[in-house]
Amino acid sequence: MNELRWHALLQQWVVVSTARQNRPQMPADWCPFDPGSGRVPENYDVYIYPNDFPAFSPDAPPFAPEPGLFDKTGPRGACDVVLYSPEHTLPPSALSLENWRKVVDLWTLRTREHSENPDIALVAVFENCGEAVGVTMPHPHGQIYAMPFIPPMVQRELSSARLFADANGGDCLFCRLLSEELRMQTRFVAGDEHFAAFVPFAARFPAEIALYSRRHLWTLLDLTDAERQSLAEIISVVRRKYDNLYGFMLPLMMVVKQGPLQLPDEHYHFHLQFLPLQRSPTKLKYLASIETAYGTFLADTTPEEMAKTLRECEPVTPASSIRQMDHSGS
Ligand SMILES: [Zn+2]
Ligand SMILES: [Zn+2]
Repeated sequence: MNELRWHALLQQWVVVSTARQNRPQMPADWCPFDPGSGRVPENYDVYIYPNDFPAFSPDAPPFAPEPGLFDKTGPRGACDVVLYSPEHTLPPSALSLENWRKVVDLWTLRTREHSENPDIALVAVFENCGEAVGVTMPHPHGQIYAMPFIPPMVQRELSSARLFADANGGDCLFCRLLSEELRMQTRFVAGDEHFAAFVPFAARFPAEIALYSRRHLWTLLDLTDAERQSLAEIISVVRRKYDNLYGFMLPLMMVVKQGPLQLPDEHYHFHLQFLPLQRSPTKLKYLASIETAYGTFLADTTPEEMAKTLRECEPVTPASSIRQMDHSGS
């Protein structure tokens, strides 16, 4: 069964995808993402691999909600895996700049393809990294979900931005936050003429980083060649700083937030979020009752202290991070 069910209390869709439950356990000595597996080209740098057990798929019934307490509809869309490298044990922070650029270009290409499909409302690009985020496959990879609706967190950001614009002569909320961060500098981490990375004023995750384009853009499709290069560079810097923070591959979610595809909204602003789950060298951050059921986050470091630490942290992949990948098996 693959269907979307309406959560009437939270006003959001839940994907029920029972096929995912029956995913076979990968054999320990075999990785489908490795050259020679028969599932990927013999030679590749980066590669789009179709998700074998997709939550959203092109042959699912169309998304046609009928408002009602027990409404359900089809999860039409697409799910892809983005392979960052043919090297199985490479932590993403050790990926070459050249490969990060190819990854960014692949995200852009796939977003362009989905933008031509009227079934797709939003393209979610993300990476879950590390066992703490539930990743069992160490091979460096991310994912792309093409979704038939605008997910609630993006809707919320959009409505905040619209309210701000209405009250501030049409100004962009994201642009204003960015210019204030650049003026204050206390939470700034890294950046260049195209992008700026900072710890948000009210960061919810430990060592959280927001990465905003300096220009007001909606989606990956609006980036110039120079901006795509700059994006690759700053992602590489942030990932190396993270792994050097505690000396091992930091478990995290890396999320590329784009505006809606079919209804371009001038109030959205292209950005990335890095959401680490490690709150100290030995302790993980769990999303427990207060976060999950009440939506209220507790942080145990100030964003200003964390920004200073991250600013000063050298962007170097520690050798131990690579060894850790070696030992985590295939
Ligand atoms: Zn592999
Ligand atoms: Zn903006």
